[in-house]
Amino acid sequence: MDSGQTFASQSANYDVLTTCASNNDRYSQILTMLLAGSPLREILHSLVLSIEAQKIGTRASVLLMSNDKKRLLTGAAPSLPEQYNQAINGIEIGPIVGSCGAAAATGERVIVEDIATHPNWAPYKELPLKAGLKACWSEPIIDSTGNVLGTFAMYYDTQKSPSALDLELIQEAARLASLAIERSQGLHLQTLTSKIFSKLPMGLLIVNENNTILFINPEFKSICGDITVDSESFEPKRFFEHSQQENITSLMKNLAIGKTWQGELTGRKRNGKTFDAEVTVTSFRDYHGEQNCFSWLIADISEHKDASKLIHFQANNDALTRLANRRYFVEKIYDYVWQQERSKQTGIGCSILLMDIDNFKFINDSLGHECGDRLLIEVAKRLAPLFPEMCTFARTAGDEFGVFLQGKVSANELIELAKQINQIVSNVSWLNSKTIQASMSIGIARYPEDSTEVDALINCANQAMHDAKVKGRNGYQFFDQSMQKNAERTAFLNMELNKALSHDAFELYFQPILAANSTHIDSAEVLLRWPLNGEFISPEEFIPIAEQSGLIVSIGKWIRQQALDLIYNYWQQGRTISLSVNVSTSEFITADLQQQFISFFEDYLVEKSIDNFPFHLLTIEITESVLMEQHENVEQLLSRLRNWGIKISVDDFGTGYSSLSYLANFPVDQIKIDKSFIQKIEQGARHKALVEAITTMSHALDLSVTAEGVETKAQLEFVQLSQVDAIQGYYFHKPMPQNAFADLLEQQAYLS
Ligand code: C2E
Ligand code: CA
Ligand code: CA
Repeated sequence: MDSGQTFASQSANYDVLTTCASNNDRYSQILTMLLAGSPLREILHSLVLSIEAQKIGTRASVLLMSNDKKRLLTGAAPSLPEQYNQAINGIEIGPIVGSCGAAAATGERVIVEDIATHPNWAPYKELPLKAGLKACWSEPIIDSTGNVLGTFAMYYDTQKSPSALDLELIQEAARLASLAIERSQGLHLQTLTSKIFSKLPMGLLIVNENNTILFINPEFKSICGDITVDSESFEPKRFFEHSQQENITSLMKNLAIGKTWQGELTGRKRNGKTFDAEVTVTSFRDYHGEQNCFSWLIADISEHKDASKLIHFQANNDALTRLANRRYFVEKIYDYVWQQERSKQTGIGCSILLMDIDNFKFINDSLGHECGDRLLIEVAKRLAPLFPEMCTFARTAGDEFGVFLQGKVSANELIELAKQINQIVSNVSWLNSKTIQASMSIGIARYPEDSTEVDALINCANQAMHDAKVKGRNGYQFFDQSMQKNAERTAFLNMELNKALSHDAFELYFQPILAANSTHIDSAEVLLRWPLNGEFISPEEFIPIAEQSGLIVSIGKWIRQQALDLIYNYWQQGRTISLSVNVSTSEFITADLQQQFISFFEDYLVEKSIDNFPFHLLTIEITESVLMEQHENVEQLLSRLRNWGIKISVDDFGTGYSSLSYLANFPVDQIKIDKSFIQKIEQGARHKALVEAITTMSHALDLSVTAEGVETKAQLEFVQLSQVDAIQGYYFHKPMPQNAFADLLEQQAYLS
């Protein structure tokens, strides 16, 4: 045994004798430091000194594993030369790198009794030898999960092998070092966690099984107020009581079985206000593993929700009335019908009502858009309470509203509803101190009876609505298949009409108008004829279509052009022929159209370079509705026409509003008693009385009277007796083509 060995054994024995008490002292000092949370370096320093004190001649060191687990860093080595420590600091670990590098890499103890000869040290031996270090035993410091945290080494200035006690000592030292490092890492983590918790941009609340609050972070307090002031516990059911019931149920279910739950709830702040919360609640076992604790992570997403609510609202609602918009309305129907079709349940259904405000365009144009808007808002407001919760009430287009009723609703119930709608809307009679009489036309379509396809179903309701309009407005219509046929024909005629004007397809017919007590023809009504595929389409059918599409404006100009040309041609030949042309209400509907109407005559004069056109030979036939619906502007327009000499006739008198006051107020020259009155003359005295009364009254107002639709001798005699001024009807002449009319005039000139 060499001297070193002897010394070692001796000192080891000495240690055994002397260290029992001091060992405990030192260890307890280190443990106290650990518990007190002293810095790691101080603890390791103490540990090294304590080992050095226990075994005289030892110079100990602790090296710590770097974060990347590739190098060793100085932890504590107070007795080793500073130069050596610096050289060792950061050394890469490896299975044959000295004692410590190898111990760290392998996780095994490495005993090098003679640095000078040991292969592990061969490349580096100059370093320790220069520092007077000849032996180095290194013990890996391993944590509770088996990870290498560093090394504990004992150096000697002689070659030396360890005794059993030495090995116990070095092992003990490494274990203590491991404890210190782990504890300090734990403490570090704890401080870090608490820092993170307090800076977390989310509210964090930790409660135990009894909901007693164990931890609350500042953000939680800033979101909800300091709820710990009122109670030491956190009751989720109360805190989230304003949330949707299904969410609360699902939350409580998950809490009961300790499952993580994530979702949106409505939280309640300490001041009672509510907020939208995104909540994640996780359960975990407490420190002792005895009970479940819960961590509540809460974010206030009110702003985000408000923004998305706004976006959602804007996407699905109409800004003016705040009702659902068309997109939402149609989507609702789609979803419902799709579900129904999928489930193939029988006996279930749904209904769609499309409702259009009558004459809305007129209200808008004459009273202003603001007034139109007010009407829409008023209608929405008044109708909304009528519809049960399962209904979708929407503004589907400009002046069109829709109601979608889920479930089977009987025809009688739908009729009752439609009547109520009509009733409520007709009560809207004034806006901005302007008097209007609002009314609505309603179309009703039902699923699955009318169609099982949503687009077609909506179309059915639309057709029914148009039918309600045609049938006199302020009413309702159920869809039926004949409407579909009508709609198809309308679409076809509309298409053909568009071609007709440019293809010169229209013809003009002339129906003579005779002075009451004469057979002399010096006047005729110009009537439009449209031959299509070998038949004449009735103007009663195609004029409304042309009005709808706006084509009536060009058609009207064309007719007036023809009529003026004809008057002018005869005029130039020294003959006079008066012509009456029909003008549709749609040709006056906007200020722009009214301007166009006037300009047409001005342009005609310019184009023909005529100063003195015999305008007195032209009569314009308008209907009562023109006077009733557009009074202000129309009055001016009619006055201008009259200034030129054009005559104004009120056509179909008695069928429309039959308000007499306008006859006195408007610049008109004559009325045409509607043929329906004339044709009832033979039915009784009351009808006769009506014709007489109209004539007398008109004469009193200085208006001439034409009786149209005179078909029989009896009718003729009666109207003559009633002193009408002019007569038109099949009794004398049916409408005829232009050449027939010209022949008739020729014949008359020849006879006279
Ligand atoms: P309206 O202006 O009342 O025209 C008179 C209608 O009564 C004409 O029908 C004419 O053929 C018919 N009629 C004349 N005498 C008799 C009779 O004794 N018995 C019967 N049963 N009917 C008679 P038409 O040509 O079919 O025109 C129908 C309606 O179409 C016109 O009614 C008018 O509102 C419109 N219309 C015709 N041509 C034009 C036009 O050029 N422009 C415009 N805007 N509307 C037109
Ligand atoms: Ca007419
Ligand atoms: Ca008429």
